[in-house]
Amino acid sequence: MPAPAQKSRAPGRPNASDLLVWYDRHRRVLPWRALPGERPDPYRVWLSEVMLQQTTIAAVKPYFSKFLELFPDVAALAAAAEERVMSAWAGLGYYSRARNLHACARAVAALGAFPNTEEGLRKLPGIGAYTAGAIAAIAFDRPAAAVDGNVERVMTRLFAIETTLPAARPEIRALTLALVPRDRPGDFAQAVMDLGATICTPKRPACALCPWMAPCVARAEGLQETFPRKIKKEKGVLRKGAAFVVVRAGDEAILLRTRPPEGLLGSMAEPPTSAWTHDYDPAKGLLDAPLDARWKRLPGIVKHVFTHFPLELTVFSARVASGAGAPAGMRFTARAGLDAEPLPGVMKKVLAHALEVKAASSVSEPKAETPVDLATPSEPEPPPRRAPIPKPPRTRPSDLARIVKKPPKATRKS
Ligand code: SF4
Repeated sequence: MPAPAQKSRAPGRPNASDLLVWYDRHRRVLPWRALPGERPDPYRVWLSEVMLQQTTIAAVKPYFSKFLELFPDVAALAAAAEERVMSAWAGLGYYSRARNLHACARAVAALGAFPNTEEGLRKLPGIGAYTAGAIAAIAFDRPAAAVDGNVERVMTRLFAIETTLPAARPEIRALTLALVPRDRPGDFAQAVMDLGATICTPKRPACALCPWMAPCVARAEGLQETFPRKIKKEKGVLRKGAAFVVVRAGDEAILLRTRPPEGLLGSMAEPPTSAWTHDYDPAKGLLDAPLDARWKRLPGIVKHVFTHFPLELTVFSARVASGAGAPAGMRFTARAGLDAEPLPGVMKKVLAHALEVKAASSVSEPKAETPVDLATPSEPEPPPRRAPIPKPPRTRPSDLARIVKKPPKATRKS
């Protein structure tokens, strides 16, 4: 698509060299980014770009290091069992990306190397227009447009694009592509991302420090914070359900099952849960229990916010006899093995909640149903890479880790 003509109210035309001068002084140092003079590693570029979709830099950093440690190159990732990849990904969310990542690694391993063009990259599983553009530009210095949420914000402000998102995307892409220099297209792609993350932020952009302040139309009109134009999104309707945490006496193993491969949290592990519906009645929750036992409804509710709906789970817990077998399609997992289970954030919250309440009730019974707010803020959308680095999502994996790794109570002899 040819670049749309610039609006007549524009005070001037932005150019790549002003931005690159700024980038050379202010570029961010990121674990996946090559330092000046270094050759970018396509595996690192690809891995980081897939991980960063819909997620913050702060959340991605530990996962990126873990993946490099477990799977140092694309061949190692391709050869890994899917369960191992899903376990390593657990907690990062959007689990279909992990499955696509693995499928893509296998396709690249079969090809022998990453394709070095946007067209070639687009043919790989899980690689869309943005990721293909980003890898082509950053890893192979191809003149490609890599338009993520940050770049959308910069471009809609720079050119005061009135069209709402997502309809404005082709226009934004064409305008971005028209600015890509023949020389240093990879640095240009990263420079626009950095500008959006550090200067042209969603709120209170630091226009006085911006290398494109002079040609920026939105800034000239004092309207910068009103771009990009968006249609107000409707919030998803609350869904409710029940989760059942079964602890086996003796080895203290936890009952888990694997969710179906398709759909939300596909192939991830969970303590058995009911269906999640708008009108679920927790008073009737035990009708969905996975086995007969003396169930206890725990005080509090576990809350979680998915991109398209919030969820509230009432948690029931029970102990079964030592040596009890798991119902069909389920398994008992020892505490020490929980870290290797691909448990998504919401299920880690359920386990942490159940085990915390159990630990507290062994000291004293709770007196009243105190609401427990374990809500996680919505994951940002479209993919932001904000700086300063925002707070990581409150998935509280540390709670689970702390509980499952807690050594047995020592008996005081004195
Ligand atoms: S001048 Fe302000 S609004 Fe315009 S691109 Fe720069 S930071 Fe963004």
